Amino acid sequence: MALPIVAIIGRPNVGKSTIANRLTGDKSSIVFDEPGITRDRTYRPAFWNGRDFLVVDTGGLVFDDDTEFLPLIRQQALAALEEAAVAVMVVDGMVGLTEADREIADWLRRHPRPALLAVNKCESIEQGLAMAAEFWELGLGQPFPVSGIHGNGTGDLLDAVVTHFPANAEIPAEPEINVAIVGRPNVGKSSLLNAFLGEQRAIVSPISGTTRDAIDTVVERNGQRYRLVDTAGIRRKKNVEYGPEFFSINRSFKAIDRADVVLLVIDVLDGVTEQDQRLANRIEDDGKACIIVVNKWDAVEKDSDTIYQVERELRSRLYFIDWAEIIFTSALTGQRVPKILDLVDISAEQHRRRVTTAVINEVLEEAVRWHSPPTNRQGKQGKIYYGTQVAAQPPTIALFVNEPKRFNDNYRRYIAAQIRKELGFEGTPVRLLWRGKKTREIERSANRATRV
Ligand code: GDP
Ligand code: GDP
Repeated sequence: MALPIVAIIGRPNVGKSTIANRLTGDKSSIVFDEPGITRDRTYRPAFWNGRDFLVVDTGGLVFDDDTEFLPLIRQQALAALEEAAVAVMVVDGMVGLTEADREIADWLRRHPRPALLAVNKCESIEQGLAMAAEFWELGLGQPFPVSGIHGNGTGDLLDAVVTHFPANAEIPAEPEINVAIVGRPNVGKSSLLNAFLGEQRAIVSPISGTTRDAIDTVVERNGQRYRLVDTAGIRRKKNVEYGPEFFSINRSFKAIDRADVVLLVIDVLDGVTEQDQRLANRIEDDGKACIIVVNKWDAVEKDSDTIYQVERELRSRLYFIDWAEIIFTSALTGQRVPKILDLVDISAEQHRRRVTTAVINEVLEEAVRWHSPPTNRQGKQGKIYYGTQVAAQPPTIALFVNEPKRFNDNYRRYIAAQIRKELGFEGTPVRLLWRGKKTREIERSANRATRV
């Protein structure tokens, strides 16, 4: 369940992190991975008046500086603001009103988000009120005099903060997971679909999909809803006479487009065909999570080695989605069918997962320590400044480097492999963007994302 977020905003040195510490009642910086959180930042849990929430300190917001990464910092603050239920702008009562405060307040007022104004460093309560009065002109309503260091005034501020949270009932539940079942005719898609419907003893309602004549089916299990996209495409076949070879790759592509997780169903008796490879390619291109469902496992004569042999063969034909889990099932006997949705849960979670910048940089530092970036003939060496996750679904990590061209494919693959090894991301593709200092290079290298 997503918790309301409070974003702390303000110019550097006004005491944002001191106040954030005060609100969370905790000096240590806890990295908090919460589903539904959309940007990579440090979220810390807090509690007031019976409400749980998260506090995010956005780092210093600067407008009049032309630091190289400034747009990124501002973009981060903006992203924090977008997902926040309420923003707290912090100013420095000792310094008084500054031009930078005015710019930030202007910027805040342009965003439709409740905002409160905390005037920090007001250790003395009487003087505090006088110090705070000056900030009325920022147009953010009543200034709250507080002292991040001593804690006075923060209770009143928190009382005001929680009034801006949505009522408990309005907090959205777990998002639905969109699942596409794709594969050639006769691999067992409709049998699997029926097995899901039978097994889930849950709501089964045909729901109109977004594309014309696509019908989705929604099933629920353990409070998690799965929207099985374009099930009409799967079921229709039962009523309409198509030749056994009929296979609409376009329809499959559209279903993949709408999915978070794709079940790529393969008939173990046929193995991986060229059509399966095309589907797998599309899944990878679209950045979707995927599970390779190897069906009709009951129909195979097996000894103890068969499963490994079959898996090796499948993997070699589908090497470009080597991150996808493989599961051997029988829609006929029901073998491992319930496990498919377990894998869907895991892959969907990894697909929308966010990893903090701190963790990514730990992995990068360790990787570079073991194996340093290549040096060219002129003795110039590649340098990775830092990495940060810039998007999810699929997880996308930007690596800021001196010059992308210093990093050959071998080294890129090495870094990619280390990221996989340390961060997992089971079941989802991962993209790495190699970004240089110059804009030109950003654009060019963005087109050459390393696929992991
Ligand atoms: P940030 O850059 O906005 O996160 O600011 P910090 O929280 O790092 O604080 C900047 C400076 O202001 C530090 O030296 C703090 O000790 C000081 N500071 C923070 N809160 C208070 C306060 O309530 N009163 C006083 N007097 N100083 C404070
Ligand atoms: P679809 O075209 O992909 O939807 O495939 P269907 O679900 O219609 O299945 C095609 C044929 O394969 C049917 O005759 C099914 O009974 C059979 N079939 C489906 N799943 C299995 C399975 O796990 N094992 C075996 N032996 N046959 C299966």
